[in-house]
Parts: sequence; structure tokens; C-alpha cells
Amino acid sequence: MRYRVLGCFGGEMPRFHLSSFLLDDTLLIDAGSVTSTLEIPAQAHIESILLTHSHLDHVRGLAHLADNMFGRRDRPILVYSVEPILEALKGSLFNNVLWPDFTVIPSSQMPILDFRALPEGKATSVHHFRVTPIRLSHAVISVGYLLEGEFGAMLHLGDTGATEAVWRMVSDMPNLRAVTIGTTFPNRLQHLADLSGHLTPRGLKAELAKMCAKTSVYVYHMKPQYAPEIVKELEELVPDAQVLEQGKEYRFAPIP
Ligand SMILES: [Zn+2]
Ligand SMILES: [Zn+2]
Repeated sequence: MRYRVLGCFGGEMPRFHLSSFLLDDTLLIDAGSVTSTLEIPAQAHIESILLTHSHLDHVRGLAHLADNMFGRRDRPILVYSVEPILEALKGSLFNNVLWPDFTVIPSSQMPILDFRALPEGKATSVHHFRVTPIRLSHAVISVGYLLEGEFGAMLHLGDTGATEAVWRMVSDMPNLRAVTIGTTFPNRLQHLADLSGHLTPRGLKAELAKMCAKTSVYVYHMKPQYAPEIVKELEELVPDAQVLEQGKEYRFAPIP
């Protein structure tokens, strides 16, 4: 499985792209920077999108992607999440005020975007993956995705503060290859992290202590202006964690 980091920051500045991850060229997780990092042919290759939550830094590119794909595709892009997140997008973004309703454009029979609700805590087949959304703890409803396939399993978490269910879900999972998790603020801004449902390096350490499974941990969603400070604190507190690299493709070979 190829996991390509289009953008992995929790804020936008020149050279720092918002969260968006492309798996095997066809499945996108979050859409923050999809249209600012991919050329049109690569955008047209995307078949399905998993959304972790409704915050703008994770969905903004979906509006522009829908616009770019008009007249370029013969079937809809399938947009998956749990029902409340899809409802938030319909009501607050694709509401014909902030942006046109691309779930009925050009027609409700063959729209650009087709929203599909996923059951929480249950696996659903999406392409060659099995996908399970698990509820996290954030300022709005947010989920992580357990992705399973020939490569084993990977846990990609949307924005979250301290949380529980997801760690129970993966405890003792033998084939868990990687966990990606946000660390947004430095330790000195713990109060901001708590208010907004995010983690600091100290908070990350506490979360990882809840996980029994032994696996690689990749950190993302740093606010760009604090990134050097966060990286330094991670090196001290969570030395085994790696920081996800923007633009890099990570490969997970099939388990024999
Ligand atoms: Zn975010
Ligand atoms: Zn968020």
C-alpha cells in the first residue's frame, strides 16, 4: 500500500500544506490540500474520499476538487464518513450559500460528489480496503479510520485530544503497521490544546501509553509556526515517534 502525504500541517502558510493523504492514487483521506498539491489528471484519478471531520482545514479542497472535476468524470467521487459529518458538510459547506451543492450537480442521478455514510465501529469495503471509522474526541465529531488490507492494518486518526475507544480497538492487533496522529501545539500551549481538542507532545505520550500494540507512530497536524518547538519536544518525550514528511510516499508491503 502506498500512502502519499500531500499535506500534513494543521495550518496553512507558503510551503506548509493542510492535511490530505492519497492511498494507492485512488483513495484520499481528508482533502485540505488536494487541489493545491495535485495536478488535474491526478485529481481525476481519485475514486473515493474518507473524511475525518468537517473542519475547514480537512475539507476545503473538496469544494475545489468538485469544481475541477465538473465535466471530467463519468461517475461520482464517493465521499465517505459517518452520518453527522456528512450532514455537517451538506448543511454548512455544500449548501448553495458557501458553495454549490455538488451532490446534485449536474444531476441528482449522476452528481460530482456522492455522499455515503459509514457505520461507526464496523468495517466496510472501500476499494481494496476494509475501513472502520472510530469516534475520537475533538471540538466537533471526528473519527479515525482503521484501514485493513493485504499490508495488514493502519490507523489514521483525525483531529483528537485525549481519547479512549480507538486504543481499545487496536489493542493486541498483531498486524498494525502504523498509527498516524496529530500533535498540534507545543507543551506550553496545553490549555489551547485542551480547549480545541488537540494534543501536545506531552498529551501524545499519554495517549500512546494507552496503546498495547507495538507499531510505528507518525505525527502530523503541527501548526507550522510551532513546528520546530513541537519537533524538539517530541524528540525528548516520544523519541520513537516519526514526523510525517510532506510530499513523501510511505510504502507498506503485503504481509506474506
Ligand atoms: Zn485540523
Ligand atoms: Zn479539527
